Order: sequence, then C-alpha cells, then structure tokens
Amino acid sequence: MTLSNKLSDPRLFRQYAYVDGKWTHGDGNREEAVFDPATGETLGHIPWLEPHQITAAVDAAEAAFVHWRALRADERCERLLAWYDLLQVHREDLALIMTLEQGKPLPDARGEVEYGASFVRWFAEEGKRTFGETIPSHIPNAALGTLKEPVGIAALITPWNFPLAMITRKAAAAMAAGCTVIVKPAGETPFSALALAELAERAGIPAGVFNVVLGDPPEVSRILCDEDRVKALSFTGSTRVGRLLLEQSANTVKRVSLELGGNAPFIVGPDMDPREAAFAAVAAKFQTAGQDCLAADRILVHESIHDEFVEHFAERMAALTVGNGLESEVDLGPLIHRQAVEKAAAIVDDAISKGATLVAGDQSQAPGENFFMPVLLTGVTHDMKIWHEESFAPVAGITAYADDDQVIEMANDTEYGLAAYLYTHDIRRIWKVLRALEFGMVSVNSVKMTGPPVPFGGVKHSGLGREGGVTGIDEYLETKYYCLGALGSVSGS
Ligand code: NAD
Repeated sequence: MTLSNKLSDPRLFRQYAYVDGKWTHGDGNREEAVFDPATGETLGHIPWLEPHQITAAVDAAEAAFVHWRALRADERCERLLAWYDLLQVHREDLALIMTLEQGKPLPDARGEVEYGASFVRWFAEEGKRTFGETIPSHIPNAALGTLKEPVGIAALITPWNFPLAMITRKAAAAMAAGCTVIVKPAGETPFSALALAELAERAGIPAGVFNVVLGDPPEVSRILCDEDRVKALSFTGSTRVGRLLLEQSANTVKRVSLELGGNAPFIVGPDMDPREAAFAAVAAKFQTAGQDCLAADRILVHESIHDEFVEHFAERMAALTVGNGLESEVDLGPLIHRQAVEKAAAIVDDAISKGATLVAGDQSQAPGENFFMPVLLTGVTHDMKIWHEESFAPVAGITAYADDDQVIEMANDTEYGLAAYLYTHDIRRIWKVLRALEFGMVSVNSVKMTGPPVPFGGVKHSGLGREGGVTGIDEYLETKYYCLGALGSVSGS
C-alpha cells in the first residue's frame, strides 16, 4: 500500500517540488528515496532540482513579491486564515504523513499539526499590526517616523525533527509581513512540506509566494545564500550547518535568523518533591524520542534528593513504550536513521568509559534497527560527550550538585544557550538562578514553554533572532525611516 492510499485525501501526498504554483520534477536524473524510519520501507521519492531550477524558484518568488506585498495586510490575513482552516480540516492526514516520514507517535504528530497551524493563525493576525511609529522631531518644521516594509524573498531551511511546525513558524511570519518564501525542507521529511504547499495552493495563496525546493542540501543552500535577490535566510537545524550558512550569507549581507542546537539543563532544587520533579524531567527528556532542541540533556539534581529522584526517574522511564508511532500507546518512536542510533550508542559508551553508571537501558530490547531504548546514566561529568553534545536521542544523564552557585556554573558550562528548566518553589532561588542562566528561554516549574505568543530562540551558539511572539515578524520586516522636511516653509503656514 502506498502512502497516498493511506490518506483520506491522496492529493496531499506529492512527490514533486513546488515552484511558481507548479508541481515540478528535476531536470536532471537525480532523486532521493524517503523512508519510514520505523520499518525501513520506502515511502516515496523526491526529485533533486538542478541549480537553474533553484534560480527559477527565486525568479518566481521575485515576480510574486510585487503583487503579494501590494496586497493589504487584511487581504494577506484572509489567505493565511484559509490556509490555517485547511490545516485543521486535514490534520489527520498531515499527522499520518508526519508519523510515517519522521517516526513520532501519531498523537505527537497531531499535536505538531495543531502547534504548526497555531503559528499561521497568530501571524495572519499579527501581519495587521506591523505598525511604524511617529518620532518627535528634533528638526524644525519636519515630521519624522518609520514605515515597516517586507524585506523581500526569504529562504527558509528546516530540519526533520519538526517537519511541519518549523516551516509554518517561519513561513507564516514571512508571508504575513508581505514576503515570498522558498522553503528547503530536510530530505528525510519532505512530504509534510509538500502537503503544506498543496494546502497553500487550495487556500488561494498565489503562485510564487510559497515555494518548496528539493535537492542536494549544500548545493541548494549555497545557491540561495549566493543569490542577492534573497534578502533573508531563516534556518533551523544544527549549529554546525548554521555557522556554515551564516558564513555563506556574508557576501550578500543577508538578514540571517538561526534557530540552532540546544543542550538544556534541567535543574532540580533541594525543596522539590523528587517524584514530581522526576516525572517532569522524564517528560522534558523523552519527547520526540529525545530528538528535540528543548530536550533536557543535562539533569542537575540537588545532592540531598538525588538518590530518590533517580529511583523515580527510572521507574517512570521503565513505563515508556517504544515502538512504531502508528501503534497505540507508543511513547517513543524510532530515531530518524541508523546513524542517529550509532551516535547515541557512542555517547553512552563514552560516558560509561569515563565513569558514568548505567542505571537502565537495554538495547537488546529495541524493536527494530532504528530504535534506541531509553537510557539513564548517573554520575555524568564535564569531560563526557553527553555533557557537551546534543545526544538527540533518549539518553538521560543525571548529575548531583551541592549549591546554587555550583549548579549555575554547571548549567552555563556549554556553548549552547537555547532553553533551560528550573524546578523549585523557592522564590529567591528562582530569581537568582533565572537571572544567572545564559539561555534564551527559561521555564520554571513547567515542561511546556512554547507556542505562538512567545519569543522562541537562543543565545550563544544556539542562534540569532526570535521566532513567534510579537517580535517573530520583525525578522521579515525592514524599518524605513522618513523625514518629511520643510513642512512649515510652505507659503502661508
Ligand atoms: P541539520 O543542520 O543537519 O539540517 C537542517 C537543514 O539543513 C536540513 O534542511 C538539511 O537538509 C540542511 N543541511 C544539512 N547539511 C547541510 C549543508 N552542509 N549545507 C546546507 N544545508 C544543509 O539539522 P537536523 O539534523 O535536520 O536537525 C536537528 C538539529 O536542529 C538539532 O541540532 C536541533 O537542536 C536543531 N533544532 C533547533 C530548533 C530550534 O528552534 N532552535 C528546532 C528544531 C531543531
């Protein structure tokens, strides 16, 4: 049975790029197979576009920009809301596509569709509020102010772990601002992006406004970075690739937004109930099988409750089920591919070889070759890879600490600065630690922290700029200052 037969609406499964409102095959013979990571089955194939076809996408986005930016903000809002409605109508199909190509359990995929759609609605409305300002003039007889204008064409390069929401969080903001976009999704998960394109077309979003290009990642990215007509680049993915794209965008002096890796500390204060905190830490660690930039990578627990915390964590972790995301009651799906499993195993081996204790995690129980059973390590220290690298796998590492100053130092001991969690009810500790953490986002006593109203993003090597919130649209807007002079020099005034 092919993927399209599994969908209520088979036309949501597309095996072409989408450029200038047309489903496009590659002019060369290059293509890429897309696999179900749970079973290894081939779901379909995508073409790789040739360099001149990527340039054609830029041509299309350039032509469409003229008309799209000229629409009134409320007209763009209507189109985006129509897109939002279609995402809701087709959420089951979208979730199924996502589970098949990404592996996450179906309820999580439904959650991502909902989350992804919520950005479309948020930015549809936000586009109507891109206010400029009036500035009290210091120049005699002049009026000063600013206008907000769309930057132009935006290239959006996205990862496989959130194949739909990472696109809508960027594209909806850009399109609401009046920009046209060229999306380059991850090769592992192109079908969610292509389903978004099908629904954008049905929503009446004009040809050339939302394009999806497919191809060799370094080749496509290089063309988009070198293109002077592409004015903004927004990337979500690894810090390694983010650095590369920042460098490649220097020649054309692009507006660059980067949402990169994380290495979140999860700090548990001595006043916490160890069971409550352990259950929260399990939730913060194992979502999307640990393949999440917000995953609690370093769990730092006060020494006075460490042992009890570890017991509860292990108990809760043992209750997690691992399997195909299409099956009911599955908590963790597969990792994205075999290399991810190998990387996870290497990180665990490295930690054990340097003195960590393996409390739980028996890989012989894994239900398939891309699966990795949850692992719990204690005694994790600074010299281990797990301390510094994103494992991007269900590997939890716990470390005991003695006092607030020590845990602040431990938490900040990373090149990353995306998100941090803090569990304590002591208001003085909350304020002290919250202010000392070098992270873009700090969640206190809550696992859930994201959503359309919040400015999502990191500091240090976790990125540049913010997505979502009232500032998310600014990534796609230029501020034009105006000075209307000589107002008082007109005769008679
Ligand atoms: P990745 O950097 O390997 O790939 C991201 C995108 O870049 C994909 O579209 C890929 O095809 C493309 N790409 C890969 N190599 C490239 C190259 N050499 N030149 C140009 N483009 C290239 O990241 P990934 O493995 O897809 O995603 C996981 C990473 O994303 C993790 O580091 C995770 O923390 C991060 N992430 C961050 C956020 C955030 O909001 N900060 C959200 C999700 C994921």
